[in-house]
Amino acid sequence: SAKEQGRNNSQLYARAMNIDATSLLELESGLHTALEAGEFVLLYQPKVNPEKSTIVGVEALIRWQHPAMGLIMPNVFVPLAEENGFILPLAEWVLYAACKQNKIWQEQGIATMRVAVNISARQFLQPTLVDTVAKILNQTGLEPQYLELEITESLAMQDVYLTRTILDELYDMGVYISIDDFGTGHSSLSSIKNFPVHSLKVDQSFVRDLPEDRHSRAIIASIVALAQGLNLKVVVEGVETEAQLNYLRSLHCEEIQGHLYSKPISAQKLIDLIAASHDHLSFAPKS
Ligand code: C2E
Ligand code: MG
Ligand code: MG
Ligand code: MG
Repeated sequence: SAKEQGRNNSQLYARAMNIDATSLLELESGLHTALEAGEFVLLYQPKVNPEKSTIVGVEALIRWQHPAMGLIMPNVFVPLAEENGFILPLAEWVLYAACKQNKIWQEQGIATMRVAVNISARQFLQPTLVDTVAKILNQTGLEPQYLELEITESLAMQDVYLTRTILDELYDMGVYISIDDFGTGHSSLSSIKNFPVHSLKVDQSFVRDLPEDRHSRAIIASIVALAQGLNLKVVVEGVETEAQLNYLRSLHCEEIQGHLYSKPISAQKLIDLIAASHDHLSFAPKS
């Protein structure tokens, strides 16, 4: 089941971070207290226009600053929260924090751009999702076109009829919608055609071996062509090298995201990055 899959993934990532089974249980039972104690933070990773080198948006990525265990990555604790239901309050916190931060950036004249929030399965299927999004936009005063929701392709494909119903409501509200990890979720092309979405985010697994690997090139080129044919924007994530960037530029891909331009960074560091980008636009890897 999807739940078992989530827990397995969580255990795998935990092992990679040297977190044993007991600590994983502690993390799970500590989620609630952690939210109250303010231990969750959002980092922001720029989405960049590869032609102009301008930042067109950011993706909010959650971290848990655990007082004893250090920085915990979302692949470890999001599946736990998804399983025990705590994802709902946590997701609402993420949405609020991201919208609020983006509104502050606008008001301070730092940038007018989209902030993207990842939507988990349980959150997406919650009947109150649309109302919650509307409520948070209202509370923070952020206009809907500056909020982007990222739904993974595999989630979108679970029940295409239901997905379409939910996305229709969000789209009508004016929110920007992306299909995340595109290319890994067994899309039926007719469903993609019928989904009200603005962009496809190509999964980073297809980028890793660019530009040398012929198969990766073929896959990326066809996804970009598909998106362009359907009038959707295409975002490529996981761009780490100049050679990958050059290949993506040759395909006229609209947006890229990856360590080449910036890792996910704090709200304060993002302000510095934006300020620096006004004087000197560069894709040179930051040291
Ligand atoms: P995602 O939405 O596909 O996010 C992209 C992941 O790739 C992020 O990992 C990001 O840090 C990483 N990344 C970006 N550029 C590069 C690159 O050039 N190279 C490499 N190797 N990696 C890159 P992160 O932050 O660990 O997040 C992992 C996943 O956790 C996300 O995948 C998303 O599914 C989930 N997630 C993160 N934040 C949230 C959240 O607030 N809510 C929910 N529900 N899920 C979240
Ligand atoms: Mg994402
Ligand atoms: Mg992704
Ligand atoms: Mg992912």
